[in-house]
Amino acid sequence: MPAPLSVFRFAPSPTGLLHVGNARTALLNALLARRAGGIFILRFDDTDAARSRDSFAAAIADDLDWLGIPPDRVERQSSRLPIYAAAAERLKAAGRLYPAYETEAELDLKRGLQRARGLPPVYDRAALSLTEADHARFATEGRAPHWRFKLAHRTVAWDDGVRGRQQVDTASLSDPVLVREDGSFLYTLPSVVDDLDFGVTDVVRGEDHVTNTAVQIELIAALGGGVPRFAHHNLLTLPSGEGLSKRLGHLSLKALREAGEEPLAVAAAAVLVGTSEALAPVESLAALADRVDLSRISRAPARFDPADLSTLTARTLHMLPFEAVARRLEDAGIGGGAVFWHAVRGNLGRFIDAKDWWEIIDTPRVGMAPPEEADFLAAAAVVLPPEPWSAETYGAWIAAVKDRSGRTGKGLFRPLRLALTGQEKGPELAALLPLMGRRRVLARLHGETG
Ligand code: GLU
Repeated sequence: MPAPLSVFRFAPSPTGLLHVGNARTALLNALLARRAGGIFILRFDDTDAARSRDSFAAAIADDLDWLGIPPDRVERQSSRLPIYAAAAERLKAAGRLYPAYETEAELDLKRGLQRARGLPPVYDRAALSLTEADHARFATEGRAPHWRFKLAHRTVAWDDGVRGRQQVDTASLSDPVLVREDGSFLYTLPSVVDDLDFGVTDVVRGEDHVTNTAVQIELIAALGGGVPRFAHHNLLTLPSGEGLSKRLGHLSLKALREAGEEPLAVAAAAVLVGTSEALAPVESLAALADRVDLSRISRAPARFDPADLSTLTARTLHMLPFEAVARRLEDAGIGGGAVFWHAVRGNLGRFIDAKDWWEIIDTPRVGMAPPEEADFLAAAAVVLPPEPWSAETYGAWIAAVKDRSGRTGKGLFRPLRLALTGQEKGPELAALLPLMGRRRVLARLHGETG
């Protein structure tokens, strides 16, 4: 029998821009799905109409595209409300969802009293003792209930992909509120209903959700369905140790993109920081997927230092094959094909630096040659070999210039580099020369426009 299809999902609420910590979750799901030949779903948890924005949903989809992990399927919880309402009705019919009327202030007071008596602040289920008459009175007073899920008070266990065996006695938890007074749903029920409906086999998410898992497993059992595999990864923090906030716009993917960081570098850092894997550049997402091992993710929060990212961006560019950037070069109006890319990639700090090099090669320039070197450069022009040029041409030319001028080292190369590129440093002249062609090289050696 073929193995069942693996289904992973990334479930952000569209209430802000994704940060690198969210990218960690998204990438782990997408890469594991890819490696398993499975499906990666993007699910917008947008039942909170007041805080969710279409513009954030669009930005999240763009960010996933930029990272190179477009989803196979997109779902929005806001379009599935009747399905959650039907699930809530089933739970009511099964006696697992009960109405309660306590206000926040009343609940606070109860918790305060429990704490004072040294008891855990767990909801006391007072609402289960309400009589028909109580309910009728609340109704005439116009007080609508919120709805709590009645936990089974049993031990729930699962093998967490990151944390190993986990066990929770649900008697230690408050019966969670699934539906608010106004009929809107909190996160728990829609999430479980969707995981069941979409056949999710693997839930990989931040460890801030560990505490929800036992409740969700009980809810899955109550609704009838298979329990997915769970894995809760550690969270990323700012270098200061402060947690990342979507709302405060910390380390947003948008900002990193605008700063010119490479998506593959961001992906490598987001996935590998805080694991026992070394933080090293990768040349493709497939290579990164090969390095994902949930069991090697550390349990402690991991600091994410954006300063590491610029180095990683440069190192990533230095190893990217032409095919990986061909499209971007074209979009940026950069020509020269693979020859150009291989000539310059080792000198790039940011992708867009390639544009400067292309302009140096491709656009007529004047007056870059140092005037005091005019004679030396004119002599170098005399021995410039005729075209067609081959791989040997540059070596032959330099040997001839050396012979004729008696110069070596910096005295030989610096004026040539300045005359041809206007820069003190840069890619090997040997690689640039064929891209410029003889006419341009001659003009620049003579200090003319070319
Ligand atoms: N909307 C939840 C969040 O962004 C999803 C949690 C989950 O993956 O179940 O944290």
